[in-house]
Amino acid sequence: MPFPRDIRDLALVKSHRRCCVCHEFGGRSVNVHHIVQESDGGANALENAICLCLRCHAEAGHFNSRHPLGTKYSPTELKAHRDQWWEHCENHPDEPLGLFLDVRFKAISRTAEVHRYCLIITYTNTMREAQDGWKLRVCFPSFLPLFPGDYDRCEIRLDGEPYVQLESSSNDRVFPGESIEVVTRDVHFIEYEVNDNVHRRLRLEHKVTWQFFTPNAPVIEGEKSLSELQEF
Ligand SMILES: [Zn+2]
Repeated sequence: MPFPRDIRDLALVKSHRRCCVCHEFGGRSVNVHHIVQESDGGANALENAICLCLRCHAEAGHFNSRHPLGTKYSPTELKAHRDQWWEHCENHPDEPLGLFLDVRFKAISRTAEVHRYCLIITYTNTMREAQDGWKLRVCFPSFLPLFPGDYDRCEIRLDGEPYVQLESSSNDRVFPGESIEVVTRDVHFIEYEVNDNVHRRLRLEHKVTWQFFTPNAPVIEGEKSLSELQEF
């Protein structure tokens, strides 16, 4: 049985419709999940409810105990994430919900000789107003063989290391609730031969950094190590 409507609504409001584990804004794809499954005696009560995005929901729900791989999400851990996030939401009721940028690499072809990845950056406008245009700045370690297409490019240094900074912008309007691909999946960002030592360096803690500017919201800034951006 699913949660009663009022419990579901309350869980969604208390979480700001964000995932309690990764804190990404879920919009319509957020799930209200049972912390302890009903088949294990979990109640349809607020105490047993957690909002999760699709990715975390799949991660938490599809752990196969016959083939344990990775670290299982325990009910205690999920509950702690939930309580921590609800407390944060309660203490920051006015925090703008608009700061949502999803950054990841996707493998587009992997043969025995050559690996090719694209960078996918998706922005969701969760503000109440439309945004007239945006600008993206993204920096990669300069040893990466980049094929960035139509970007303004310059060399910079970050923490003393050589980086390449790419910049792109658009005047297109982004409506409230709309998600756009800021970097589209037809741009190849990294391509290397598997035998090349680039492959080994990718596993080190080199990072990718980004800044995303819109006219009426704070700058979204972030960085991740190449290994976190996966799928290498
Ligand atoms: Zn999540």
